[in-house]
Amino acid sequence: MSASEQTEVTERSHPCPKCKKPLHRIEGKMGPFWGCTGFPSCRTTLNDIAGKPSTEINEHYRCPICTRRMVRADKGRGDYWFCSGYSKGCKIILQDANGSPEATHRCPDCDNLLVKRQGKNGMFWGCSDFPRCKTTLSAKSF
Ligand SMILES: [Zn+2]
Ligand SMILES: [Zn+2]
Ligand SMILES: [Zn+2]
Repeated sequence: MSASEQTEVTERSHPCPKCKKPLHRIEGKMGPFWGCTGFPSCRTTLNDIAGKPSTEINEHYRCPICTRRMVRADKGRGDYWFCSGYSKGCKIILQDANGSPEATHRCPDCDNLLVKRQGKNGMFWGCSDFPRCKTTLSAKSF
Protein backbone atom coordinates (compact mmCIF):
# COMPACT_ATOMS: atom_id res chain seq x y z
CA MET A 1 0.00 0.00 0.00
CA SER A 2 2.71 2.43 0.98
CA ALA A 3 6.26 2.65 -0.23
CA SER A 4 7.34 5.16 2.39
CA GLU A 5 9.08 2.57 4.55
CA GLN A 6 12.60 2.30 3.25
CA THR A 7 15.60 0.56 4.66
CA GLU A 8 19.01 2.03 5.05
CA VAL A 9 21.98 -0.24 5.62
CA THR A 10 24.62 1.44 7.72
CA GLU A 11 28.34 0.66 7.66
CA ARG A 12 28.71 -0.11 11.32
CA SER A 13 26.59 -3.12 11.95
CA HIS A 14 24.81 -3.87 15.14
CA PRO A 15 24.12 -7.53 15.76
CA CYS A 16 20.66 -8.74 16.59
CA PRO A 17 20.47 -9.62 20.29
CA LYS A 18 18.57 -12.80 19.42
CA CYS A 19 20.12 -14.29 16.28
CA LYS A 20 23.29 -12.16 15.85
CA LYS A 21 22.47 -11.23 12.26
CA PRO A 22 23.06 -7.55 11.54
CA LEU A 23 20.30 -5.12 12.34
CA HIS A 24 19.31 -2.43 9.90
CA ARG A 25 17.74 0.92 10.50
CA ILE A 26 14.26 1.32 9.12
CA GLU A 27 12.68 4.69 8.53
CA GLY A 28 9.20 3.81 9.53
CA LYS A 29 6.24 6.04 9.10
CA MET A 30 6.18 6.37 12.87
CA GLY A 31 9.87 7.18 13.19
CA PRO A 32 13.08 5.20 12.84
CA PHE A 33 13.61 1.81 14.43
CA TRP A 34 15.91 -1.18 13.93
CA GLY A 35 14.84 -4.46 12.45
CA CYS A 36 16.70 -7.74 12.05
CA THR A 37 17.96 -8.71 8.60
CA GLY A 38 16.91 -12.24 9.55
CA PHE A 39 13.31 -11.12 9.16
CA PRO A 40 10.84 -12.81 8.75
CA SER A 41 12.32 -15.73 10.70
CA CYS A 42 13.53 -13.26 13.34
CA ARG A 43 11.12 -10.50 14.23
CA THR A 44 13.35 -8.62 16.62
CA THR A 45 12.89 -4.86 16.54
CA LEU A 46 14.73 -2.34 18.65
CA ASN A 47 14.21 1.33 19.28
CA ASP A 48 16.43 3.87 17.64
CA ILE A 49 18.14 5.89 20.34
CA ALA A 50 20.40 8.64 19.00
CA GLY A 51 20.94 6.74 15.75
CA LYS A 52 21.84 3.44 17.41
CA PRO A 53 19.72 0.46 18.27
CA SER A 54 18.91 0.34 21.92
CA THR A 55 20.06 -3.13 22.88
CA GLU A 56 18.45 -2.89 26.24
CA ILE A 57 15.00 -4.20 25.71
CA ASN A 58 13.57 -1.63 27.95
CA GLU A 59 10.00 -1.83 29.07
CA HIS A 60 10.08 1.95 29.19
CA TYR A 61 9.96 2.07 25.42
CA ARG A 62 6.79 0.04 25.23
CA CYS A 63 3.38 1.57 25.35
CA PRO A 64 1.96 0.88 28.81
CA ILE A 65 -1.46 0.24 27.28
CA CYS A 66 -1.00 -1.70 24.05
CA THR A 67 2.73 -2.66 24.34
CA ARG A 68 3.55 -1.23 20.92
CA ARG A 69 6.72 0.77 20.51
CA MET A 70 6.77 4.33 21.84
CA VAL A 71 8.12 6.85 19.34
CA ARG A 72 9.81 10.11 20.17
CA ALA A 73 8.11 13.14 18.68
CA ASP A 74 9.94 15.37 16.25
CA LYS A 75 12.24 17.84 17.96
CA GLY A 76 10.21 20.83 16.83
CA ARG A 77 7.06 19.47 18.38
CA GLY A 78 8.37 19.21 21.92
CA ASP A 79 9.88 16.52 24.03
CA TYR A 80 7.35 13.78 24.28
CA TRP A 81 6.75 10.22 23.15
CA PHE A 82 3.70 8.88 21.44
CA CYS A 83 2.50 5.35 20.81
CA SER A 84 3.22 3.81 17.40
CA GLY A 85 -0.29 2.45 17.65
CA TYR A 86 -1.58 6.00 17.30
CA SER A 87 -3.26 5.31 13.96
CA LYS A 88 -4.85 2.23 15.53
CA GLY A 89 -6.48 4.38 18.16
CA CYS A 90 -3.97 4.34 21.01
CA LYS A 91 -3.54 7.95 22.06
CA ILE A 92 -0.95 7.45 24.79
CA ILE A 93 1.50 10.33 25.11
CA LEU A 94 4.34 10.30 27.62
CA GLN A 95 6.64 13.14 28.55
CA ASP A 96 10.34 12.70 27.95
CA ALA A 97 12.48 11.96 30.99
CA ASN A 98 16.19 12.07 30.10
CA GLY A 99 15.81 10.44 26.71
CA SER A 100 13.21 7.84 27.53
CA PRO A 101 9.50 8.00 28.10
CA GLU A 102 8.62 8.83 31.66
CA ALA A 103 7.67 5.96 33.92
CA THR A 104 3.99 5.16 34.13
CA HIS A 105 1.89 3.75 36.90
CA ARG A 106 -1.52 2.21 36.89
CA CYS A 107 -4.56 3.14 38.88
CA PRO A 108 -4.97 0.62 41.70
CA ASP A 109 -8.75 0.76 41.27
CA CYS A 110 -9.43 0.56 37.55
CA ASP A 111 -6.04 -0.27 35.97
CA ASN A 112 -6.05 2.81 33.75
CA LEU A 113 -2.90 4.89 33.70
CA LEU A 114 -2.21 7.45 36.34
CA VAL A 115 -1.21 10.91 35.15
CA LYS A 116 0.64 13.58 37.08
CA ARG A 117 -1.51 16.56 37.81
CA GLN A 118 -0.85 19.90 39.38
CA GLY A 119 -3.09 20.57 42.34
CA LYS A 120 -3.49 23.39 44.80
CA ASN A 121 -1.10 21.65 47.17
CA GLY A 122 1.42 20.50 44.59
CA MET A 123 1.76 17.57 42.24
CA PHE A 124 -0.29 14.43 42.65
CA TRP A 125 -1.23 11.36 40.60
CA GLY A 126 -4.73 11.18 39.25
CA CYS A 127 -6.46 8.49 37.24
CA SER A 128 -6.54 9.11 33.49
CA ASP A 129 -10.11 7.90 33.54
CA PHE A 130 -11.17 10.94 35.57
CA PRO A 131 -13.96 11.95 36.08
CA ARG A 132 -15.21 8.37 35.90
CA CYS A 133 -12.56 7.27 38.37
CA LYS A 134 -11.62 9.72 41.10
CA THR A 135 -8.63 7.84 42.49
CA THR A 136 -5.70 10.06 43.41
CA LEU A 137 -2.36 9.20 44.98
CA SER A 138 0.20 11.50 46.48
CA ALA A 139 3.15 12.51 44.32
CA LYS A 140 5.42 10.55 46.67
CA SER A 141 3.62 7.26 46.08
CA PHE A 142 6.21 6.02 43.58
ZN1 LIG B 1 17.52 -11.46 14.65
ZN1 LIG C 1 -0.30 2.18 22.73
ZN1 LIG D 1 -8.82 4.69 38.12
